[in-house]
This record gives sequence, C-alpha cells and structure tokens, in this order.
Amino acid sequence: MTVMNNDRSLADYLNKEYFCNCGKPHSVGIQQILIDEDAIYRLPELIYSLNIKKSFFLYDRTTYQLFGSKIINLLNQEKLSYSDYIIPSSEPVPNEQTLGEVLVHYDRDCDIFIAIGSGTINDISRFISYKFHIPYIIVGTAPSMDGYASNVAPLIVQNMKTTYEAHTPIAIVGDVNLLSTAPMNMIAAGVGDILGKYTCLCDWNMSSLITDEYYCETIVNMVKESLETTTANIELLKNKNSGVIKNIMEALVLSGIAMSFAGNSRPASGSEHHLSHYWEMMYLMQNKKPILHGTKVGIATVAVLKAYEILASQPIDFVKAEQNASRYSSTQWEANMKLCYPNSYESVIELENKVRKNDPENVMTRLKRMEQMWPSMKDRINALPSANHIRNMLDSLQAPSDPMAIGIDKTLFINSFIAAKELRNRYGLLQILFDLGITQEVAEEVWAYFAQK
Ligand SMILES: [Zn+2]
Ligand SMILES: [Zn+2]
Repeated sequence: MTVMNNDRSLADYLNKEYFCNCGKPHSVGIQQILIDEDAIYRLPELIYSLNIKKSFFLYDRTTYQLFGSKIINLLNQEKLSYSDYIIPSSEPVPNEQTLGEVLVHYDRDCDIFIAIGSGTINDISRFISYKFHIPYIIVGTAPSMDGYASNVAPLIVQNMKTTYEAHTPIAIVGDVNLLSTAPMNMIAAGVGDILGKYTCLCDWNMSSLITDEYYCETIVNMVKESLETTTANIELLKNKNSGVIKNIMEALVLSGIAMSFAGNSRPASGSEHHLSHYWEMMYLMQNKKPILHGTKVGIATVAVLKAYEILASQPIDFVKAEQNASRYSSTQWEANMKLCYPNSYESVIELENKVRKNDPENVMTRLKRMEQMWPSMKDRINALPSANHIRNMLDSLQAPSDPMAIGIDKTLFINSFIAAKELRNRYGLLQILFDLGITQEVAEEVWAYFAQK
C-alpha cells in the first residue's frame, strides 16, 4: 500500500492501493490514462498491449461521422480485428431500448468493448462490458461530463434514472486535438458538471455532520483539485486553448477516480445532480429534446447554491420544524409523488418504504442533530461560492445559467425541489429543506431569484 501525498499526476492514482486516513483502502481499476495531443494514434498499441483478439467498437451517429474513418484506418493499418456498431441516433438515451439494440448487434467473438463518445456511449459500454465480464476502453470525444473514470452506470430503466453497479474502463484515451473540436456547449457542459462539485461536496459534508455518513478528506481534496484546475482557467477556455482542454479533461477524469475511490458517486453527485436527473426524466417523459447532462448540472448548481444562501441567511425555527415533522402524512406524500413522478412513482415509493428517510422519527433525530450542528453547518455553507459567481462563470462561457433558458417552467422547477431527493437515499440540501419543512418557500424564492435577472 502507498501513502497518499499531494502534487500527483493522474497516473499516480493508478495500479496501486492507497492507505488512507479514512480507514478505507482506495484503488481504481483503470490501468492507463492517455490524455494528450494525438493520443488516438496510440490506440492500436494499447490494444496490442492488452492482448486483445477482437475489439467491439461502439459509436453514435455523430461520433462515427466525426471519428469513424480515422479509427477504422488506424485499425486497418495495424491489421487489428474488430466489429463495430453505430447507434443510429446522434443523441441516444441510456435506456432499455438502446441497451437492447447494442446487445442485438454485439459480436460475441470480441473480448473488449471500445466506446467512442462521451455520456451515453460510455454508460452503455461500461454497463454491458461489466455484465459480460470483459474490459472496456473509452475514447472520449468531448470533455463534457465526469463519467469517464466512474465505476457506476446511470441508466434510465422503467423511466427512472437509476445508478447501476458497473466497472471502470481499463483505459481512457483523450486526444486533446479531437477533444478541442468538440462544440463549445459540450465543453461548457463539462465545466458545469465540475462546478456541481461545490454543492455536492457541501451536501456530503452536511451528511457527515448530521447522519454520520462516511466521509473522506483525501477524496474531497481530489475533487477540490478538479474544481480549482477548472475554475482557474475559465477565461482561456473560450478560445479552446488546448492546454486548458487537457486540464478540463483531466479534472473530469480525476472526479471519476474520486467516485471509484469512494465506491459510489457520493463525491461527485449531490442535490444538483438529483435536480438534473429529475429534469431529465420529465423531459424524456414529455418527449422533449434532451439537454446535456453538464448543462443541467451547471444550472442546478446555481439553484442549490441560492437555496443554501437563503438557508444560511435566515434564523431557523427548529420548534416549528419539529411540529411540522410530527404532522407528516405518508398518504399525502404518496399522492404528491404520484403527481411528481407520473410514470415511475412505484420505485420512489418502494425506496421510501425501504429506507424511511421521511419518517417523522428519523426526521426528528436529524433535526435534533441539526440544531446542535447548525453553527458548523452555517460556516460550511458560508464558505461556498455565491450563486451569482457561478452564474457569471456559466454566462462567460455562453452556457445557459438559469432554468428558463433550457425550458424549465416554474411548476417543474418547484416539483424538482420537492421530488428529486426521492430518487436516492442521499442526504443533502433537498432533504435538509424537507426536514425543516421549508422546501416550498425556499424553492419559490430560488425561482424568484432566477425570474428577476
Ligand atoms: Zn479515504
Ligand atoms: Zn455529473
């Protein structure tokens, strides 16, 4: 085992197990990370080094159009054996239909999956290769989200955004020249996904204070490093400076390694992701055009920051909160969930029956703890950047920075504050608001903040 220290490169995290002060050993299954100019030309060498007999390449329509011929030429030059499948959509959804489609076309002579893309292509490849017990390589085509190094697969199954167990890729290839050709909205989405770490780390911290959830400072520092690298260079990103694109891709990968180290998505996904997942599910249900994950996360981060600001700026009435908790009606809650999740409320209700996070007894216990811990919680909240600051950053990249800009109306916005936390049993801002009985009023205030600017 190795003792962790500062100033590491990504390669330093690989192929070893770290002894950590949190008491948990940390390791990641990724063997190689190639993020550099012309990294794509090292793909054949990578395939040879892994003793692969035949590779299965997965593209979507766009990634095939952009990179297909380059990759096929490389494979043919090196006489590498492969099969491939191109998902006909340019914006595939990671649901049962896409999974089934890829399975139908999968060539079982292949002993590795090679994903050419970003979000969905990566999630589908990670999940199927895991189920088949074969490794996968991701060739990233845009620095647009932090799932490259993650070990879980968020899929939409029975209309519910659910995170499934999977594995990390054996190698990540990020050719900076190719990544720099990604459209600016995808790059800005990557930044949005990273900015979400401000609120997700705060949520995690709150949970460790209130619910004694496992918390690791080393992992927190890795994610903070991602944040620092990204925010320090926002200005240069506008011209797609290749050095900065490389930094962003590395920051996204580092955030994924942090998830692997924790064994779940806690270090990289909090209330801002729950809001984003809820919006995604509702968009899908209404057959609306999907919005990039990181774009939604960026906007949701501004919303969560504003809600935290509101929370810390007012006196908390714990007596009123306890009275409110004692009046909780599970029947009323179920009725609300049926309204907020018209086509997937069963899973939400099932989860609540299992974990009872809204049960008055559990809420009371947390409220008592919150009352003791409130000064520490407030200090932590006050250390967050302001909602305006993050909003300005998104604006400077010409990325949408308020819910209306992506077509979210007031009802959907308020419903997401009420219902998004029910997707997971993960304590954070939205559960804090619920416990205090102030979800509706804070959500209204956050909406008013967006509406006035
Ligand atoms: Zn640790
Ligand atoms: Zn994300």
